[in-house]
Amino acid sequence: MKMKGHVGMTEEFLRELDQWIESNQENILNDLTQLVRIKSVSGEAEGDKPFGEGPAKALDAALAMGQKMGFETENYDYYAGSIRYGNKPEIGMLAHLDVVPEGSNWNTNPYDVTLQNGTLFGRGVSDDKGPGIMALYVMKFFKDKKIPLKYGLRLILGCDEESGKGFRDMEHFLKVSEAPLFSLVPDASFPCCNGEKGILTGSFVSEPLESTLVSFKGGQVHNMVPDAAEAVLAGITLEQAQNAVGDMLKVEEAENGIRFTAKGTACHAADPFNAVSAVERLASGLLKSGLVSGKTARILQFIADIQSDFQGTKAGVAADDKISTPLTLVVGVAKTVEGRLNLSLNLRYPTTATSQPIIEKLEAFAKDYGYSLTDINDSKPLYYAPDHPAIVTLVNTFNQVTGLNAKPKVIGGGTYARAIPRAVSFGVEFPEDSNTPSPYPEGHGGAHQPDEAWSMKALNDCLRIYVQTILRLNELDLEMIL
Ligand SMILES: [Zn+2]
Repeated sequence: MKMKGHVGMTEEFLRELDQWIESNQENILNDLTQLVRIKSVSGEAEGDKPFGEGPAKALDAALAMGQKMGFETENYDYYAGSIRYGNKPEIGMLAHLDVVPEGSNWNTNPYDVTLQNGTLFGRGVSDDKGPGIMALYVMKFFKDKKIPLKYGLRLILGCDEESGKGFRDMEHFLKVSEAPLFSLVPDASFPCCNGEKGILTGSFVSEPLESTLVSFKGGQVHNMVPDAAEAVLAGITLEQAQNAVGDMLKVEEAENGIRFTAKGTACHAADPFNAVSAVERLASGLLKSGLVSGKTARILQFIADIQSDFQGTKAGVAADDKISTPLTLVVGVAKTVEGRLNLSLNLRYPTTATSQPIIEKLEAFAKDYGYSLTDINDSKPLYYAPDHPAIVTLVNTFNQVTGLNAKPKVIGGGTYARAIPRAVSFGVEFPEDSNTPSPYPEGHGGAHQPDEAWSMKALNDCLRIYVQTILRLNELDLEMIL
C-alpha cells in the first residue's frame, strides 16, 4: 500500500487511515446490521412511500446514521436521499438501499448479518447496503480527520434500483435535485467499469392457453435466472406422468391436476453463462415427456428455444463485439396471467449494437410461436474511453493500492451509472476473486443469490481505495474533463 507523490498519501497517512478503519469496525458492522434487518424490497406505493414501507424505512435509517455523524441530509420524497459533506460541486457516491427478494436455500437468516470467520452474510451485504455503508464511512473519515477537499462528497441513496422499472428513484432525484460533478457507483466491479451494455426488457405474452396446461410459473424477478419452476397439467394420472417424465422432473398430485417441478441454478441476468434456467428445464422436460401436444407444445417450445442458451442464438440475436461479453438473453419470470403465459425478457446488448434490429428479430421470432412482445423498455448503453482521465485515475489508484494490474471493463450489469450524468461504477467486486475467495457452493454467496456474502476485509479494502481515489480525483480539474 505504498503511494508516493500524491497529497495526503504518505505512509503516515495510510497508517492513520488503517487505524481509523480499525477503530470503526464495530460501528460499521452495527450500521450495516441495522440496514440488513430492514426488508427493503422495492414494491408498490404505500401512502407517501413510492416503493412501499421497506425501502422508506431503510432510507430513514441510513439518513439518521448520516445525521448522527453530523452530516446534512435530504430526503427526496422517499425515492432517494442524500448525505452531504463539504463544498460544492461534489463528487457523488451512489448506492441503493432496496434489495432483491431473498429467494430460497439460505443457510443463514437473510435479514440479519451473520459474521463467520470474517465473512458477512445477509441480503444486501454486498449489493448494495454494505457498499452504501462503506461510502458513508468514507465521508466520516474525511470529516473526522478534517481533510479539506476541493470537491465535497455526497452519498446518494436510492430506493428503486432492483425493481427493473427504469431507476424511478434517480429519475425523481434528477427532477428535484442536481447530479454531482462526477459520481462513483460501488455496485459492480473494480478497477472500474468504463461501459455498461444496453438493457432491453419486456414481456412475451402467449396466445390463450389450452385447458390442459392449468398453470406454468417460475422465477421471482426479471433480472435473475430462475432456480425453480412448476407447472400443472390436467387430464392425466400421476402414474402416466411419472412414467413419462422419469427423473427429468419432480411429479406430484395437485388440486387441479398433476404438478411438475424443475430446479435450476440462479444467477444474475447480467452474467448468466453458468446458470441453469428452471423454466427451460421444465418446458424441455414436459416436451420430451410427450405429455403435451398442439398449441400447448408450441407455447412451451418457445421457452425451450429462447432459453436453449443465454445468448439468444435460436432467436437470431446473438452478438459479440469483443468490447464487452456477448449479448445475453434471460427469461427471469414465467407466470400465467388471464389465461396466457407471460415471460419476462431481460436482454443485454453490446455497447456498439443498436436495439431496434434486435427488437424486430425478437418480435418476428416470438410471432412464430404465437407470442407477442410487449412493454418494451430500452436502457441505452454507457461508454467512456479507457484513456479518459477520470477512468485512468480510478484504474491507476485501484492498481496502486492493491498491487494488481487490472483493466477497466464493459459490463452487462446496469447500475445507477447510466441513470445520472457523469457517473461510472467503481467496485466493489475485485477482479478474479483476488480479494474474496468464494468458498460457497455453486449458486450461493453472490449478489442476488442465497447466502449473499461480503468479507469484512473487502469492505475495509474498498474504504481504503475509495478514500485514496477521492483524494486523487480532487487533484484533477473535473469541471474541465467531464
Ligand atoms: Zn446492486
